[in-house]
Amino acid sequence: MQKGPARNATLPFPTVASIRSLDRVAVSRADADLVAQHYAAPTSRVLLMADLKVSLMPGLARDSAALRWVGGGELVGLGFKAEETIFLGLDEAGHARFVEIVDPAHTGAGNSELSQFEPLADLRTLAVEAALAPDELSIVGAARSLAVWHRSHRCCGRCGAHTRVRDAGWRRTCWACGQNYFPRSDPAVIMLISDRERCLLGRHSGFREGFYSVLAGFVEPGEDIEDAVRRETFEEAGIKVGRVDYLGSQPWPFPHSLMIGCWGEALSSPITCDETELEDVRWFSREEVRQMIAGEHREGIDIPGKLSIARALIDHFAADKSA
Ligand SMILES: [Zn+2]
Repeated sequence: MQKGPARNATLPFPTVASIRSLDRVAVSRADADLVAQHYAAPTSRVLLMADLKVSLMPGLARDSAALRWVGGGELVGLGFKAEETIFLGLDEAGHARFVEIVDPAHTGAGNSELSQFEPLADLRTLAVEAALAPDELSIVGAARSLAVWHRSHRCCGRCGAHTRVRDAGWRRTCWACGQNYFPRSDPAVIMLISDRERCLLGRHSGFREGFYSVLAGFVEPGEDIEDAVRRETFEEAGIKVGRVDYLGSQPWPFPHSLMIGCWGEALSSPITCDETELEDVRWFSREEVRQMIAGEHREGIDIPGKLSIARALIDHFAADKSA
């Protein structure tokens, strides 16, 4: 039997949304008094997120952005109330970090109130421009995932009544029927399919011209990770997959996915492209992939940037002959 990549191989990608820089102190979230003490402490730091955009330090150049952390007291008396206050955790110095979620459509916060917090920037821009330190970028990713989740869980899916924020932003409970809702991550598989010599890359019609990436898709209810890899690959490319190995994962806050990175062994070669999903899917040799990484592919093919697990999987194939 041929050897596959090592299980749990460490992939060298940054963690866009896994807030490793903070201690989440999850057990403290349900203690409302303790959370209130943390918020009121002079050392607490609060980040404003308005309409999914975060407040940045003013006056910095585009390539050296930093989050604008303010004291909890500075947000009081601004003429609007944040819709959700989320306790993110404690930083290395033991200081509490919060994010205040403002949705102008609901809170009535106008441009004049929010202008005090400009510039405001969205996560995609910050990620693409690589302007924030990785720790801060990961905090924005987590905050965005939570903000999107809160926005779509204001009412109970069971009885239709309003839900209320609990556990410092990590739970919502229906006031009428008591149903609890917890922030969710949607599992998705993202896979490097190879026959040891070549790997499979495809492009959606929405991609910019010449851009290819590895295949990906959501895990369906009742399905395990391996079967999701096999099903998605067969649906999108008509390739049968045998062995599947886990390589690493990455939270992907668009809106709140968990990307599960896998390697899959191709058992067949002819491609049948599912044109409802993909514009093209092709085999590329390791040499071609190395040219893409170097920006020297003869067709000008471009691949995902370094912040993505997709790129980590492609780099893994380019570097490791066992993949
Ligand atoms: Zn309910």
